[in-house]
Amino acid sequence: MRVFHSVRNLHSWRTKQELLEGPIGFVPTMGALHDGHLSLMQRARKQCRTVVVSVFVNPLQFGETEDLGRYPRSFRADRRLCREAGVDLLFAPPPEEFYPANFQTTVTVNRLTRRWEGEARPTHFQGVTTVVTKLFGLVRPHLVYFGQKDYQQCLVVNQLIQDLNWDMRMIRCPTVRESDGLAVSSRNRFLSAHQRVQAGLLSKALRQGSDVIRTGIRNVRTIQSRMEKIFGSDPDVHLDYLAICDSKSLEPLTQVGGTVVILGAVRLGTIRLIDNLLVRCP
Ligand code: AMP
Repeated sequence: MRVFHSVRNLHSWRTKQELLEGPIGFVPTMGALHDGHLSLMQRARKQCRTVVVSVFVNPLQFGETEDLGRYPRSFRADRRLCREAGVDLLFAPPPEEFYPANFQTTVTVNRLTRRWEGEARPTHFQGVTTVVTKLFGLVRPHLVYFGQKDYQQCLVVNQLIQDLNWDMRMIRCPTVRESDGLAVSSRNRFLSAHQRVQAGLLSKALRQGSDVIRTGIRNVRTIQSRMEKIFGSDPDVHLDYLAICDSKSLEPLTQVGGTVVILGAVRLGTIRLIDNLLVRCP
């Protein structure tokens, strides 16, 4: 496995790749790699001749009051995991090279970023779309791998790919979960034992929503109140949103029909967790 920290090395590597056949698969990450990331790499390894992973804690996608400073970083362990997963190239640029002092370009996707995570974290998606635009431009992958865990992000990046006519396909990979259903996340390591139990309630509420829909109930208010009951009245759990939306536009619904996505976000102390479930209504 090769490891590049500089943009210049990546440029010359990519130019040489033009002569080789077969797709380049790309998995962008912020590091602190776990089984969720690994599942993306494994999928890419199966489908592509060359697999590129980036590890870059992107300052642009953190709000001023968010956890950029204490976001987990574990480059040695990440490098080992990538090597073991058969990754060909690990790209981990230092932030000051990636965003030099005079950097002044941002990329914005409009409608899809307004609600949910976009509302809770107003500058987040602009940070995401700016960093992936730069990374996609450098790596020039054929297939890009993203996790359904960040469902809104998948739709936003897909929109970017369509809008800019990039010759690239997104592979959305299923959410990897712990045994109680909690979606694996780099931030889970910050949960106290009590918070870890509370965190499990989010996926439980989503499954409850899906079960209620399967019983034939279509009224969103009714489904929502059944999901909210899962959290009880614990004052330490702050429910940011629990929404049932159109799976393509992410607009909230009043009646369920077709394929819907249930989106959820909770705050436990300073830790914010998100999850979602796609439900196909019979
Ligand atoms: P991050 O490092 O959190 O920016 O995530 C990098 C990629 O891994 C994103 O496409 C995430 O959606 C994906 N990812 C994170 N957690 C999981 C998970 N539990 N299951 C599947 N994919 C995940």
